[in-house]
Amino acid sequence: MTTTMAPPAPSVTQRYLEEAERYSAHNYHPLPVVLDRGEGVWVWDVEGNRYLDMLASYSAVNQGHRHPEIIAAAREQMDRLTLTSRAFHNDQMGPFLRELCEAAGFDAALPMNTGAEAVETAIKMVRKWGYQARGVPDGEAEIIVCEDNFHGRTTTIVGFSSEEQYRAGFGPFTPGFRVIPYGDIDALRAAIGPNTVGFLVEPIQGEAGVIVPPDGYMRDAAELCRENGVALVADEIQTGLGRTGRFFCCDWEDVRPDVLIVGKALGGGVYPVSAAIADSEFMDVFRPGDHGSTFGGNPLGAAVGRASLRVIIEEDLSRRSDELGSWFMDRLRAIDSPHVEGVRGRGLMIGVVIKESSGTARPYCEALKTRGILAKETHHQVVRFAPPLTVTRAELEDALVEIEAVLR
Ligand SMILES: *Cc1c(COP(=O)(O)O)cnc(C)c1O
Repeated sequence: MTTTMAPPAPSVTQRYLEEAERYSAHNYHPLPVVLDRGEGVWVWDVEGNRYLDMLASYSAVNQGHRHPEIIAAAREQMDRLTLTSRAFHNDQMGPFLRELCEAAGFDAALPMNTGAEAVETAIKMVRKWGYQARGVPDGEAEIIVCEDNFHGRTTTIVGFSSEEQYRAGFGPFTPGFRVIPYGDIDALRAAIGPNTVGFLVEPIQGEAGVIVPPDGYMRDAAELCRENGVALVADEIQTGLGRTGRFFCCDWEDVRPDVLIVGKALGGGVYPVSAAIADSEFMDVFRPGDHGSTFGGNPLGAAVGRASLRVIIEEDLSRRSDELGSWFMDRLRAIDSPHVEGVRGRGLMIGVVIKESSGTARPYCEALKTRGILAKETHHQVVRFAPPLTVTRAELEDALVEIEAVLR
């Protein structure tokens, strides 16, 4: 009897990967894992393997996957009303914005959906404020931004990126932005001119590889902005809502920005919800017709946003992030590895920098995946660890065994 060697059947995973490869635009380079279930800090792939999610969807899942309270709020709202557009009022947006403003300590908020839209909102807000309140000549307003910034992917936003790949082939770009080195207060002082209306900054740069600026940077920047009548615009889309061990990362230096941008975890990993938050001096530049979004402030998003905020506050996730983050960072620093250049971060926003001589961070992420941990490289040399803030010390202890094995 002869047997013919049939080629092995493609795995379930392989079939999904090929389908995505065939039908999607190739604008991402994901790890080859196909997920179909999530609960809390855990996700499962289509073959039944379980992983600790240490990316948490770039901090959009601070509350954990499918937090029961957020899912219940979404379900209940879906059974009542999901979309009104802003042509009419709904009974969720007002309470949502009040709760958001009370939590953040500002007068008003403008709801959008994605982070990039909230950044665009802030840009429009400070520009118009500059013309109206500061008397900047029409069309001359300038906004200062930092090298290696990440504020989203619209054409205006990538136009002031310093990352060549984000821009190449996508111009021409919106004028009116000036790029300075991050963390350099003298550069900010030198860059402020008569037409500078805003300074747009991340209190920790996430996508750049978890870059923590020097101590006092945000406080000094806030003071410089105040002295010069420049609006400080803090992009806390990733650093906000507990991620860095404070409710907002600006709280570390008791800084109150003029405009605060939030997104990601505001939707609890369930629905895209973002907002630009400010006092009336800034918010009141908007008149009916100036700005908007079909889905911004919709009742489903607002109900999800309310539950997402409530979970962060009631479960004291900022404190969890602070305590677990500093302990976890110490443990990572204690790993004796020939490949690690350093560990940096705040709270549970942590980057492990791989030495260039040890290659890029990608193979380390692939090795972690085979050991049940999902992490993603950022900027070639950095493995980012940013699990849901609901993670327990015991779960992190278990993860450390695997991380240590991979880093050694
Ligand atoms: C993710 C992110 C954005 C963009 O948010 P999207 O929802 O992807 O548009 C902007 N700024 C920062 C700091 C981010 O981390």
